Amino acid sequence: MKFALAGNPNSGKTTLFNYLTGSTAHVGNWPGVTVDKKEGIYKKLPEKVTVLDLPGIYSLSPYTPEEIVARTYILDEKPDVVINIVDATNLERNLYLTTQLLELDRPLIIALNMIDAVDRSGDKIDIESLEKAIGVPVVAISALRGKGVKELMQRAYATAKEPFAPYSVLSKSAAGEVFNRVADLLKNKNIDNPIFHAVKLIEGDELEVKNHLDIISLVNEIKSAYPAEEFDGDFEAVVADARYKYITERFSKLFKKAPRKEELTRSDKIDKVLTHKFFGIPIFLAIMFAVFHITFSGDFLYLSWYGVEPVESLGVFLQSQLGNLMGIIMDAVSDGLESAAPWVSSLLVDGLLSGLDAVLSFLPQILLLYLFLSILEDSGYMARVAFIMDRAFRRFGMSGKAFLPLLMCFGCAVPGIIATRALENERERRIAITISPFFSCGAKLPIWGTFAATMFLNRGGEVVVFGMYVLGLAVAILLSILMHKMSKKKDVAPFIMELPAYRLPQPKSTAIHLWQKLKHYVVRVATIIAGAIVVIWALSTFNFRFEMVEDNANSIIGIISRGIQWLFVPLGFGMGESGWKFVVAAFTGLIAKEMVVATMGVFAGMDADPLEMEAGELAATPIALLISTLSIPAGLAFMAFNLLSVPCMAAVGAASGELRSRKKLWSAIAIWMGTAYVVAAAIYWIGTYWWIGLILAVVLAVIITYFALKKKGIDIFKKLKKA
Ligand code: GDP
Ligand code: MG
Repeated sequence: MKFALAGNPNSGKTTLFNYLTGSTAHVGNWPGVTVDKKEGIYKKLPEKVTVLDLPGIYSLSPYTPEEIVARTYILDEKPDVVINIVDATNLERNLYLTTQLLELDRPLIIALNMIDAVDRSGDKIDIESLEKAIGVPVVAISALRGKGVKELMQRAYATAKEPFAPYSVLSKSAAGEVFNRVADLLKNKNIDNPIFHAVKLIEGDELEVKNHLDIISLVNEIKSAYPAEEFDGDFEAVVADARYKYITERFSKLFKKAPRKEELTRSDKIDKVLTHKFFGIPIFLAIMFAVFHITFSGDFLYLSWYGVEPVESLGVFLQSQLGNLMGIIMDAVSDGLESAAPWVSSLLVDGLLSGLDAVLSFLPQILLLYLFLSILEDSGYMARVAFIMDRAFRRFGMSGKAFLPLLMCFGCAVPGIIATRALENERERRIAITISPFFSCGAKLPIWGTFAATMFLNRGGEVVVFGMYVLGLAVAILLSILMHKMSKKKDVAPFIMELPAYRLPQPKSTAIHLWQKLKHYVVRVATIIAGAIVVIWALSTFNFRFEMVEDNANSIIGIISRGIQWLFVPLGFGMGESGWKFVVAAFTGLIAKEMVVATMGVFAGMDADPLEMEAGELAATPIALLISTLSIPAGLAFMAFNLLSVPCMAAVGAASGELRSRKKLWSAIAIWMGTAYVVAAAIYWIGTYWWIGLILAVVLAVIITYFALKKKGIDIFKKLKKA
């Protein structure tokens, strides 16, 4: 069976859809248009039900892609029942669409959503009388809390099994005569949805007129009997007026509004602080820092400042637990392989397991970070961040609207890039796509985690991780300012955004989010990443004559990488004996960022002799030994390069699809690689030779002071001589 959810934008369709379908949902695209198509399965009825989340619409006219998609779906695909989601706090406006859905042949049921908000405000809706007045089942629900949803689905199921009698509210209006005569014409033609088509023909709907050329002159004749002077002969207005009159006369009286108090709501009070003109951005940064501190800090309470044994943060604790477990598994496997051929144990233990271990052990931290981000999102805070950013961006000729899709890039750049479709301004869109990879995505987290647990263990690892996020954000902002300065057109579209009320996040939807993340990550690592690890292992184990090499610097990938290593000497990490390994890691990162750590894991696994290492100590892991060959500035440069370079092949694919131009795509790739190279080099040089910069700065300051004073008539040298 097929159930379709139809309703106004923001009526809660997607919330209900997610509640009904949970993890079975998948998103596609409607053919030919860039409108999301969401489908999922509801399993709690006697029959399996496919639920479809139609795009949000205000009417069934053919003016927007959303309207056309929703209308065509209901007319052609004939869902077994249409569930009309009505926002009960906006009853009149929402019922406008209902009066149109009533004209279709498909069985209809109304889900009166947000009933929790109605109850809270003290308003009253007489649901029984509403059901009688409309003539279809009405079920009060709260999609957010799952209240009434089960009853809704059961009644929808029953409704689907019954015959449905469509009607138009137009028949009871002043123009009822016109409607009845046109409807008779269409009923005689024996087609589906005669009532709907009749109304559309009266309105003069372009698509309909084309399909019914045979009777259009008759229809026009009938219409001319009703001059509609009030509306200048505009029958679309006649119909709209009839709908609203019907709604106010028959339905609105069933809705009793409670008197409103004039005081600020709780949300308004919170907003006074969180979206404050000056404190908004610092508060945002502080919240984010707290999140990173809980996830990545090896010294949660800063106890080592007082010489006390540090306490790990939750994220680091979970990570080391998983690390220990992986260690036990690896030991067991390598013990079991003692008598196997050397290449087998090399492939399984040094290659696959150490690569997977390097990536998988960060799963707890990734999930923890997502948990926090999803709480911030669901509580309504992220919408405020876009609002705060809009205020800041506007000064540079950009709107904060671009920031909303970009926030998704903290999860993954691919949906972020696709979501830029919401920006109508082509120029703004291109800029948003270009800067999207600079936002640190989930796949880059293992890199940050690895460095936090090795090079920066108990040395402010979480500050470094936080710094990477801020660096990405800063580079993104600087680059977009630059791109805006270079473009000629400078108009900023106004950004109107309704800030949703703050809400407590719902554990169920958060759990679904996390579960999907977990599944996605594990599947990805077990397939693509594992496959790539085997390839990297093979390329770094054999030479061009397919012999196993003693020293992997002489392997296929070692020889190639050492050939281009010089390119990365200015970035610091290309230097030294192990430099080529980091070059390989950075290159595999262009395919997928998880590969950076996986590749380091493979190299580290080959190098290390497990007997020489202290068990259980994070800093003594093979990867830690590999990373210890880097200086701190080189390590930071390596991180920055991975942060800013081409994010992954999937993102390149998405950008290619969205930019729709080979030239624009290549220029975006050039910008990503160029920015990564320049910023990483700057970090390395400033980090290593900061004292030269310091001396230069002091000398410069002295010279400037000297000339400034001289201009004012004071010559220090002469004064010194005199003294
Ligand atoms: P859509 O545009 O129709 O898909 O609407 P969404 O599902 O995205 O919901 C719009 C907003 O209404 C979101 O902020 C939801 O959290 C909120 N919302 C949805 N259902 C309810 C509900 O039953 N009660 C309350 N109070 N808010 C809801
Ligand atoms: Mg939606």
